[in-house]
Amino acid sequence: MTQSAVRQPIPVGKYFLDRGKISQQQLELALQHRSEFGLKLGQSLVELGFVTEADMVEALRHQARFPCIHLTGGIVDARVAAKLGEVPSRRLRALALNQIAEHTTVALEDPGDPVALEELARVLGTRIFPVYAEPSVILGLVDQTFGVAKGKAAGHKAPPAPTRTPTPSPRTTQAVPRDEHARESIPDTDAAPDDRAVVECLRGFLQQAFEQGASDIHLEARRDELVVRFRVHGGLHEHSRLPGSWARPAIACLKALAHIDGRYDEEHAQREAPVAREGSIPFVFRRQNFEVHIATLPTLHGESAVLHVLGGGRLQRDLEHLGLAPDDLARLETILASRDGLLLVAGPAGSGRTTTLNALLARLATADRKVVALTGRVGSELAGVLYVRAELRAGLEPAARVDALLGQDPDLLVVTDVERGVARSLVDAALAGRGVLAVQHARNALEALTRLVHFGLEPYLLADVLRGVVAQRLVRRICADCKTPTVPDEALLTRLDAPRDGATYFEGEGCDACHGTGFSGRLGLFEVLSVTSGVRRELEKGAGLEALTNAARADGYANLREHGLRQARAGLTTLHEVLAATAGG
Ligand SMILES: [Zn+2]
Repeated sequence: MTQSAVRQPIPVGKYFLDRGKISQQQLELALQHRSEFGLKLGQSLVELGFVTEADMVEALRHQARFPCIHLTGGIVDARVAAKLGEVPSRRLRALALNQIAEHTTVALEDPGDPVALEELARVLGTRIFPVYAEPSVILGLVDQTFGVAKGKAAGHKAPPAPTRTPTPSPRTTQAVPRDEHARESIPDTDAAPDDRAVVECLRGFLQQAFEQGASDIHLEARRDELVVRFRVHGGLHEHSRLPGSWARPAIACLKALAHIDGRYDEEHAQREAPVAREGSIPFVFRRQNFEVHIATLPTLHGESAVLHVLGGGRLQRDLEHLGLAPDDLARLETILASRDGLLLVAGPAGSGRTTTLNALLARLATADRKVVALTGRVGSELAGVLYVRAELRAGLEPAARVDALLGQDPDLLVVTDVERGVARSLVDAALAGRGVLAVQHARNALEALTRLVHFGLEPYLLADVLRGVVAQRLVRRICADCKTPTVPDEALLTRLDAPRDGATYFEGEGCDACHGTGFSGRLGLFEVLSVTSGVRRELEKGAGLEALTNAARADGYANLREHGLRQARAGLTTLHEVLAATAGG
């Protein structure tokens, strides 16, 4: 018996074995325990105390076989739970959560159990959408739903049902309507999940995202499902799948929380004009301030959304730990020592500019300095910085917005997007002796500089106020668990202009820890252009790119690609990553 069990593939057992969570001996004990008591392997591992329920959640999530949900009372539709009934719920350790069209979502401790699924389908008369939840949580909610144990076979007597609405209204956070009787007549088949269920579910996603350090949550409306994916350290992983009917209420709920006017959208939806919307939700988690920036877009099977998580510890990094090369860091420190003038942070979107800006601000926002920041999104709020929301002053000309900030008499002015309209105001502020820290969209430091000239700023003025430019990119970091030396191909070395000195390069082969990608986390590539006397002389002359580059090089400037090569030779990233990040710039 035990032997035949051993011969079968046992994914859960293998998962824990591979990770050293259990020993071979423990696995065999658990297999024996399993057959003695007629349990699942996972159950017996938990019962024997070899792994915790949380480990099981991780295992199932890792295997991505079933969605794992953060089960709370708010998710349970008591009428649907009652339809399954107390006795089967207890016996199968299952709780029916909600029913949408011909699918009932059921939380089970073993969502892959074919016998249980068959019985559920028969009793409920619908197709089953199985999801995993911790058994103790399921049983706790079974107790709560049916009254603690020895219930009077509450089979068909529904406990008070949570109030249902066909779709959540934009007033999600407010009281739900009272006219339950009117709602009761709405057939279950096209009913959507309860407001509270949606809010609970979204809250669960956000909490897990914060805990895992995810930067983004993707809600994607597919044909029959709402697929939820998390981006953690640059890699995208599926988190869970919800019934397709959750898509609309979930997005509506997010929009309501972000104060995006839902009705406006309905009108547009009717005319089938795709409208992308943006908004943000402030969020406090474990006493840290976060902001979740939301962008929605109508897609083929409904609206999809991306939630970008800003703030908290994630973005707080010291300047010393950003990953600048030592001589770049030294040059940047020299620039920071001068309290006036313009310092630019340059890079394309998604290059980690916000992280760098915050690290710089954390250094510059000292008690003796008034810092005012004009920003579209408030990510992590730094103490000592007065944030002004750009959209609050929408309607004003960009330059007028900067002038309004200057009215606050800042020592340091921070602008998160240098555009043509504000460039001159920033230079004027710097000429007046204020410090200006600004983020600019540019591929590299020299392009940031020439772009300012294209904005109509006189090079001699720039020579006077510009202190320096930090430019950057993000590349993927090689997974430490599967890193192996590799012989790079000649063409690649040529394209990167890498020295032929027989240096060793690395790549990740792909392992469980990195989900087979060979990468884990990200890494910044940086270049720091310091406006030294040599560079200033060229600027004053109105010199071209080549002369500027030469002058900068004479003073130690190394470009993004050179830093990338250094990081590749240090075994931190691959040559392909460096090429991809620095191609065309
Ligand atoms: Zn790996």
